[in-house]
Amino acid sequence: MIYLQLAVPRTLFSLFTYKSDVAVPIGCRVHLSFGTSDIIGVVMGISETPPLDVPLHKLKPIGPVIDEKPYWNQQTLELIRFISRYQHAGIGAIIDLAQPVALRKGAPATRRKLKGFRLADPDVAPKNPQQARIVEALKVQPLSVQECRGMNLSMSAVSSLIRRGAVESFDLNGMEMDIYADLRFSNRLELNDEQRQAVDAISAAVGTFKVFLLQGVTGSGKTEVYMQAIEKALKTRKQVLVMIPEIGLTPQSIARFHSHFNVPIAAMHSALTDRERLDNYLSCRDGRVGILIGTRSSVFTPFKDLGMIIVDEEHDQSYKQQDTCRYNGRDLAIYKGKLASCPVILGSATPSLETVANAANGRYVPLRLSRRAVANAGKVQTEIIDLKGQSLESGLSPRVLTLMEEELKQDHQVLVFLNRRGYANQVICPACGHVLQCDACDSYLTYHKYNHTVNCHHCEQVREMPDRCPKCGAGGLYVHGNGTEQIEEFLRQRFPDYPSVRFDRDTMSSPQKLRDSLAGILNNEYRILIGTQILAKGHHFPNVTMIALLNIDGALFSNDFRATEHLAQLYTQVAGRTGREEKNGLVALQTYVPQNIVLQTIVGQGYDAFCQQCLAERRYLNLPPFTHQVLLRLESADRARVHQEAVALHGALKRYAENFPGVELGSPYQALMEKKQNKYHMLIMLQSAVRADMLKFIANIDTFLEDKKISTGVKCYVDVDPTEILQ
Ligand code: ADP
Ligand code: ZN
Repeated sequence: MIYLQLAVPRTLFSLFTYKSDVAVPIGCRVHLSFGTSDIIGVVMGISETPPLDVPLHKLKPIGPVIDEKPYWNQQTLELIRFISRYQHAGIGAIIDLAQPVALRKGAPATRRKLKGFRLADPDVAPKNPQQARIVEALKVQPLSVQECRGMNLSMSAVSSLIRRGAVESFDLNGMEMDIYADLRFSNRLELNDEQRQAVDAISAAVGTFKVFLLQGVTGSGKTEVYMQAIEKALKTRKQVLVMIPEIGLTPQSIARFHSHFNVPIAAMHSALTDRERLDNYLSCRDGRVGILIGTRSSVFTPFKDLGMIIVDEEHDQSYKQQDTCRYNGRDLAIYKGKLASCPVILGSATPSLETVANAANGRYVPLRLSRRAVANAGKVQTEIIDLKGQSLESGLSPRVLTLMEEELKQDHQVLVFLNRRGYANQVICPACGHVLQCDACDSYLTYHKYNHTVNCHHCEQVREMPDRCPKCGAGGLYVHGNGTEQIEEFLRQRFPDYPSVRFDRDTMSSPQKLRDSLAGILNNEYRILIGTQILAKGHHFPNVTMIALLNIDGALFSNDFRATEHLAQLYTQVAGRTGREEKNGLVALQTYVPQNIVLQTIVGQGYDAFCQQCLAERRYLNLPPFTHQVLLRLESADRARVHQEAVALHGALKRYAENFPGVELGSPYQALMEKKQNKYHMLIMLQSAVRADMLKFIANIDTFLEDKKISTGVKCYVDVDPTEILQ
């Protein structure tokens, strides 16, 4: 009898032992009966000696085996084991997260057939010009149906060549293929000195593990450094992973890679079908993809021979998954690079303070691009507008409106940035003062005018706007506060001659919509751009000469110590959207606290100065990156119970913590939004100046938490290196 340890797709930490007549290799999927359900487990261990902790007669046999051999390579399994260990998340849950949905559902781990054509008789005499073109093309290489169409080859001529026995169709995917044969690089730019130094440093590291921080102001030409660094990796016949933030992955950004390289390029993101994701995943594993471009979860993709990882906009918060399995795609990318012995390049105009500190202490190699790459780039100035005593219209001050008008009259474009979508963020009863609230969350409902609904932006609940107050029944509910929708409405009335476009999740519902709107901006059809985060990143709008930044004061007074860092990043990124070509740019920033010292530093002295100040402050206050934090997150639908269990857990940990003088244990606190999606949340913070002390402390925490869950129903998650500490 063989005993298999199986990971199951549940949040549980443990592996489960099943028995089997045959050995199933590690990494293979098998059907299992688990409790009352049929699930798919993955073999993580195999032994011939029976387990000690389970009576033999209780062991169940496995069901049908899905894979004959594992579809993961050793490195991917190692990465999964690492994250499970490091984040204290169940290995089954990580596996669930790490693989394409199709595999989770039990689909065979095989690539789709891809119909292609090749020359069967190289001496064939073509009978017409169309056939001649086909024969010429196939002499160079076999082609897929799609490629034939792309080259405008006649499919009927292909058919007649097949009938003559000169051409045969076959499965391109089953064919041996050298993706690096005939490697060509196009559209290279002449590098400036700083770019050259960066490319040289990275090139020298190809084949070894080394982490680089490529810090370059917006427009300094980081992308060109990536491109020429990628060349070096491809030349050593190795694959490249390029990670980009969720909303940075546009068809344009992928097209940019196609215009440089003739290797197969694949993308990995949520808009693909299950089948496409599986194909791309397996193609990377089989070495059929030269460059994979993807969002955070692409870090789990297995590669046949990975030679370089690039993490663009490394500071972006979308790299951290905030769900039950909280991992940081950027940090995992570094571990993946270590496993593959390849360089990892973290690029940003505004690197996170963790990364800045790691570059300062020598763990990462700092590379700088200090100037905009285009010779006659414009200058950017910032005007801080004091809102005190001003009367605002839809949140806009008279000064901002005047500045906008001046720019618009000169045929320029203006971008208005506000990180709040919807029309108004409060709906209030004039009779009793009740503010409409979500019943599943501790949050106010936002009014959306276009469909006359009230929405919760935390649980995505959408309801029709009520006529009457749900509390006292009075009519005449009014709205307060403003979001992007209202600002757009106001600006349309105020500047009727200048067409506007709004970029937020409500208006940019499809990639097509996004493409059309971006095109409309580039051809100057839209003159006023209003948007949330989506507009802050990556795009290059040459005619935008002014940016209005609204509603940033909250970040200056937040209890989250990272809020000012995020503001500094946002300001710097947004400011980078303007002054890109010879035109000068203006940032108009509205605030009630123009003298605020942090704001003054960010605007007056720039991101580097801000980082130095902020790091000094964090060091003084013993905050990350100078300490290591772990947040224990408890959640339950029962409020009293989650409070009770948080106190009990804290008590137990307090006794345990006596053995670890290096670890500070905080008192339990409730999340800022205590109730979210009908669950109540309590938090316990652990902090230590020495990472090793922290790791020792939490090493044995799993079984403890799991017991708690089983006995009380309160779920507890471990969030290592949390980036959200109030929620
Ligand atoms: P970043 O990614 O740092 O924001 P980009 O890579 O988008 O900057 O570069 C900004 C602009 O500068 C692009 O239009 C790019 O083509 C141009 N550029 C980059 N490097 C060079 C160079 N060495 N010579 C001339 N133009 C360059
Ligand atoms: Zn809600």
